[in-house]
Amino acid sequence: MKFIIYISTFSIFLISFLDVNLNAQRIEDKIDVIIIDAGHGGKDPGTTAIDGTFEKDFNLEIALRLKLLLENAYSDVKVILTRDSDKFIELTDRGKIANDSNGKLFVSIHANSKSPEESDKSGFELYLLDMVGEDNALAQISDYKISQSIKDDTLSHLLSSLILHSNLYTSQRLAKIFSTELTKGTVLKSRGIFQQPFVVLWGATMPSILVECGYLSDEGNLKYLTSETGKNELANSLYKAIARFKFDYEFQGEFK
Ligand SMILES: [Zn+2]
Repeated sequence: MKFIIYISTFSIFLISFLDVNLNAQRIEDKIDVIIIDAGHGGKDPGTTAIDGTFEKDFNLEIALRLKLLLENAYSDVKVILTRDSDKFIELTDRGKIANDSNGKLFVSIHANSKSPEESDKSGFELYLLDMVGEDNALAQISDYKISQSIKDDTLSHLLSSLILHSNLYTSQRLAKIFSTELTKGTVLKSRGIFQQPFVVLWGATMPSILVECGYLSDEGNLKYLTSETGKNELANSLYKAIARFKFDYEFQGEFK
């Protein structure tokens, strides 16, 4: 019993310590390091489109365009890609790259696929981390044969959970901004904002979002997404969403 009280006291102390620290940090923070994560790569092609396009190549091209737009707009922002070529990076390492570079915003770029029966599916989807589904995220980690020690490291797990919790509201706001900008700036329709246990997001302790840009297995979406106009409009809308979020976060006091 005494032990339980010790643990509870420690947890409360830890939570309030983190809360104070995170709030203090947030007021000073600027979105000055942005992590763009091109999904898949190397031996992992992601989905394959009906015309043979690999998702990994599409993701990288959009990530590179987005990086250029951000760098042209902000001379004081560091834009870091988790990969800038066709190479394989473990899912958990993507979050680690983001954390080690002191990233303030994490945007993961993907494209979707569907089975032939799902003929009505098209458009973009936005994913936030779902803390309830955390066990599934852990299961995904073991699927990728990453060391069991991650599962056993309870304290760092607890810390990650707390930090992520505090960012969930901000990530929800981020998703709404992305939804608005992608709807305005592309022909793609919104399929909604979802909360999923993505390992790549679980590892990142900053506002994070995963964008499924559209369906490479949908003829209409594919034609648009692989066209020059489509790629331009998509990258531009992602850029505008980041710019609006950055502005809100830094100047409007939306998150403070
Ligand atoms: Zn993907």
